[in-house]
Amino acid sequence: MSQITFPVNRFQQLDTPFYYYDLYTLQQTLSAISEAIQKDPHYQVHYAVKANANPRLLSLIAKAGFGADCVSGGEIQAALNAGFPSKKIVYAGVGKSDKEILSALRAGIFCFNVESVPELEVINQLAAAQGVVANVALRINPNVDAHTHAKITTGLAENKFGIAMEDMLPTLQRADVLTNVRCVGLHFHIGSQIEQMDSFVHLCERINELQDCLEAAGHNVEHINVGGGLGVDYVHPLTNPIPQFRAYFDTFRSHLHLRPQQTLHFELGRSVVAQCGHLISRVLYVKEGHIKRFAILDAGMTDLVRPAMYGSRHAISLLDKQGGCVAASDTNLHYDVVGPICESSDVFATDLSLPLLHRGDLLALHSAGAYGEVMASTYNCRPLAPAYYSDELNAES
Ligand SMILES: *Cc1c(COP(=O)(O)O)cnc(C)c1O
Repeated sequence: MSQITFPVNRFQQLDTPFYYYDLYTLQQTLSAISEAIQKDPHYQVHYAVKANANPRLLSLIAKAGFGADCVSGGEIQAALNAGFPSKKIVYAGVGKSDKEILSALRAGIFCFNVESVPELEVINQLAAAQGVVANVALRINPNVDAHTHAKITTGLAENKFGIAMEDMLPTLQRADVLTNVRCVGLHFHIGSQIEQMDSFVHLCERINELQDCLEAAGHNVEHINVGGGLGVDYVHPLTNPIPQFRAYFDTFRSHLHLRPQQTLHFELGRSVVAQCGHLISRVLYVKEGHIKRFAILDAGMTDLVRPAMYGSRHAISLLDKQGGCVAASDTNLHYDVVGPICESSDVFATDLSLPLLHRGDLLALHSAGAYGEVMASTYNCRPLAPAYYSDELNAES
C-alpha cells in the first residue's frame, strides 16, 4: 500500500485543529477484515461504536455489512441513524439505565450483553412490561491478562465489568426461570490495544473450558462473543496501517472450539478506525527553554485526550508542501510537543525528534481515528474540532 498524501493545499485554507479522515484507508481496513473472515457465515463482526461515532464513518461501516456494538442508548441511536440494522446491534455496559434498556427493547436489538444479576432482573421486568422476550448474553469475566495498559484492561478478576466465572452457572439458572429473557450466548472482552495473540489464545482456552462446563450442566448457547481489543501500530502508522486481522481471526479459528451450530461474534473498535484518522494542527510557537525546546500546538488534550489520559503516544509528522510527511534527517531537533490547555498533562510527546519547526507549520498526529474525536471536550471553552474527509477535500483540489 502506498503511503498516504494529505491535501495540504486545502488544509492551508482551513482553521486548525481538525480531524482528517482518509476514507481510502478505512475502505482498505474494512476489506482486509472481510478478506480475513473469508466469508465464513459463522463469523459476525460488530463495530464498537465507542471508538468513533462519527456519522460518516458509521454509515460506511454499516454499508460494509458490519453490525454495531453499543454501550449506551445514544450509541444505539447513532447506529440506527447510520443504517445499522437493529438485528445486528448488541448492547453492553455495566450501567444500563431503565430508559436505555426500554429504548433498546423498542428498537428490537439483537442482544443485551448482561453484566450482573440485578441487571438481568431489570431487563426481564422491563421486557415483561413491553410484552417481549429479550435476548441476553452473559458477559463473563475470563480472568485473562491482556498485557495492556492498566486503564484499558477489563478481563482480570477484580474489575467492575462482567460476571465472575464461578457465577456463570448460577446466573444462567437464574435466567432460565425468568420468563422474559432468553440467554442466547456468552460474551467476553479482555481489554484494548492487545498486540500479542497469546492473550487471545488464553481467552479461547478459557472459553473452551467454560463451554465444556456449560454442556456438562446441560446448557447450550448459540452465540459466542469474544469482544474486541485488537491493537494497531501506533509507532509505524504510515507504513503499517492495516492491523493483523488475518492472525487475529486465525487465532480464533485454530484455538476456539466453536460448536457447529454456533455463531462467533467480534466487537472490533480501535482496529477498524484508528489509522484512517489524523489530527491536523498548526505550530503556534516554538519556545526555546533552558533544557527543553517546546513546540506549542493549537491542538490539545481537548481534541485528543489519549496522551493525557493513558500516557499513550501518537506518531507525529511535519507535512511538506506536497502533502507528504517530511522524513527524519540529521538536521532533526528534539521537541516536547504540547497543547495550549492549562493542564500539565497536555503533552503529546516528549523529546520527539522532528524536522526544524516554525510557526504555522502543519503537523499530523497519526492513528487518531479511534478514541480521538469521540472523546473530545470543550474544556477551556474550546470549540470541538471539525472533521473533514478525503473525498470532499480531494474532489475540489
Ligand atoms: C471497548 C469495547 C470494545 C472495543 O474495543 P477495541 O479495543 O476498540 O477493539 C468491544 N467490546 C466492548 C464490550 C468494549 O467495551
